[in-house]
Amino acid sequence: MTASAKDEIKPGNFLRAIIERDLDAGTYDHRPWGGSPGDAAHQAAGAPDPARIRTRFPPEPNGYLHVGHAKSICLNFGLAQDYGGICHLRFDDTNPEKEEQEYVDAIVEMVHWLGYDWNTGGASHLYYASDYFDFMYRAAEALVNAGLAYVDEQSADEMRLHRGDFQTPGTDSPFRNRTPAENLARLREMRDGLHPDGAMVLRAKIDMASPNINLRDPTIYRIKHAHHHNTGDRWCIYPMYAYAHPIEDALERITHSFCTLEFEDQRPWYDWLLERLVELGMLSHPLPKQYEFGRLNLTSVMTSKRKLKSMVDEGIVQGWDDPRMPTLAGMRRRGYTPESIRKMAADTGASKTNIWIDYSVLDIALRDDLEGKAPRAMAVLEPLPLKLTNWTEVFGSEAHREPCHAPAHPQRPELGQRRFELGPEVWIEREDFEEVPPKGFFRLYPGNKVRLKYGVVVECTGCEKNAAGEVTAVLARVIPDTKSGTPGADAVKVKGTITWVARHDALAAEVRLFERLFATDQPEEGGRDFRDNLNPHSKRVLQGWVEPTLAGAPAAAHWQFERHGYFVSDRVDHRPEQPVFNRVTALKDSTRK
Ligand code: ATP
Ligand code: MG
Repeated sequence: MTASAKDEIKPGNFLRAIIERDLDAGTYDHRPWGGSPGDAAHQAAGAPDPARIRTRFPPEPNGYLHVGHAKSICLNFGLAQDYGGICHLRFDDTNPEKEEQEYVDAIVEMVHWLGYDWNTGGASHLYYASDYFDFMYRAAEALVNAGLAYVDEQSADEMRLHRGDFQTPGTDSPFRNRTPAENLARLREMRDGLHPDGAMVLRAKIDMASPNINLRDPTIYRIKHAHHHNTGDRWCIYPMYAYAHPIEDALERITHSFCTLEFEDQRPWYDWLLERLVELGMLSHPLPKQYEFGRLNLTSVMTSKRKLKSMVDEGIVQGWDDPRMPTLAGMRRRGYTPESIRKMAADTGASKTNIWIDYSVLDIALRDDLEGKAPRAMAVLEPLPLKLTNWTEVFGSEAHREPCHAPAHPQRPELGQRRFELGPEVWIEREDFEEVPPKGFFRLYPGNKVRLKYGVVVECTGCEKNAAGEVTAVLARVIPDTKSGTPGADAVKVKGTITWVARHDALAAEVRLFERLFATDQPEEGGRDFRDNLNPHSKRVLQGWVEPTLAGAPAAAHWQFERHGYFVSDRVDHRPEQPVFNRVTALKDSTRK
């Protein structure tokens, strides 16, 4: 493809335009960076930031990453890379109850796997929001002292009632006019554990009549006597996400804070908070700016972490890394490559609305990646024996083995040749034989000739059946002097070529075929429970045969099984002596009717 053709199909990405505008205007030039996250004084003492922009990927460690997160990872790390910036990996671990080390470790592993790194110039940019709890609390006291925050002792119900709605302005809390000293004393009581969960909260004092409900005195801190995976029992008050997130961005000197659309209405609160903290001397300009982009959704895929967890807990799938799961762990095990996921993310751009894409976009990206890379092999997934009845006559003895070869990759001669043998009995696909051929069927049926790929031409003479009338073997005669690659190969014209493996040298293999987990494009359409929409055929396990060149194959390696699609040796269950292959995707899109 030429460069200009590539440019033409490049999807819109308005985030690039924003970054380019800021770089042109010099908005973030000469911004000092103290070498680590920190407040205004810490940053001011630093040298000019070597990063032209800073972005971040901020997962909450409460579950496994999924394909939607991949979109955000590729955007944030990708844009930083493209514009000479740095992207931070930040665990947004401000919510003590749902977060676990297991998830932290899994997230680190998957971001690395996708091909991104947060270590630059000898510095690691992996951060934890909980490391900023001290600053967040200091900022809260500063807001209280400035008359910009107050402790509200209304019940949750009263607060909800007084917040109003889109039509009705809110009404002030009876606690809104306490003095800073009174508020400070109560905030410290909250912090010191003198009050139970839910007794009171700290709120910003902004405007209970604001048309933006998020500005109607948003909550800053709530009481939660809970153990935190990083800070242990040190805190019994925890900051709200919408208070914590802008502060995390500012302490890390993020320039462009990209988030999904549901945060759009939070932006005025984000800006209000950071501006006040600049005025209070705790932060400095230039401040981070939040920009929202549309979520990526895939048809027939559910990406809510909570629902994915219930599928694991209820045994609907076999773990977070089940190859049918849209988690990155599941997609890796299924055989999707980092390149294919990055390509899918790039091809879908960034838009200002939530987008739905068909799962096939991922499969197209996968084929694109593996077409040139994956070595070829023959495999028979649903085997039926084919007996070559004139073998001894043609080759002189029953024990004769006819050597065959095929390129490891048709366009890459440097990868060399695969070698295997033809013998008097081979495995063929059950579907390659029909006693009475339907119209247009060119494979084996009595009287028809086909080529055994890379081997000889054979003519079908009939079949063997069991008492139930089922075909147990196909019979055929070898046509002499028709071996592929010999002068006689073209002497006999055939319309069909079939794949095979010889019975004497094939390796037994377990082959797992997958389809989408849900039977419909929208698993929860019309308010339905996703459990009522499961595709009963989402996993099939077959006992097949693969060609002998796969002996000793390592785990997590890719092949194209000729005509069947792209496969990977399962990273968990595969053993060289007991091979297990997952089909990533077929060669052509066959999921649609
Ligand atoms: P979930 O709803 O699955 O729990 P989340 O948004 O709560 O997802 P976070 O850990 O908070 O999960 O997400 C980390 C980042 O990934 C956020 O910036 C979020 O906006 C982004 N993200 C999550 N899902 C998608 C998606 N489908 N498309 C694009 N970005 C996403
Ligand atoms: Mg979230």
